[in-house]
Amino acid sequence: MTGAGQALTAPVRVSTRCQGCGACLLTCPTHAIRPHGNPLLVLADLCTGCLDCLDVCPVDAIDLLPVAPPASAASAASVASLQEPTS
Ligand code: SF4
Ligand code: SF4
Repeated sequence: MTGAGQALTAPVRVSTRCQGCGACLLTCPTHAIRPHGNPLLVLADLCTGCLDCLDVCPVDAIDLLPVAPPASAASAASVASLQEPTS
């Protein structure tokens, strides 16, 4: 289950460059990387963004993804734009 403020996507993603060595699965401290065919699956609820998996991958198959702004920040910007004077 995804809690309040929890990212919907993990900050890292395993690409199809993965050779299936298993190093990242063994290294991930929270077991966020799961066997799920190719590419492997990274569970957003478990990933802490420590980036240990990037360090151990021998073929650079794990990509760091851009971080989206928090939903609360986006909502605040949206409300602010609605409150701007229309003179
Ligand atoms: S960034 Fe850290 S927590 Fe996330 S999948 Fe990689 S090793 Fe696991
Ligand atoms: S360390 Fe890299 S090559 Fe090995 S299983 Fe993980 S993503 Fe695939």
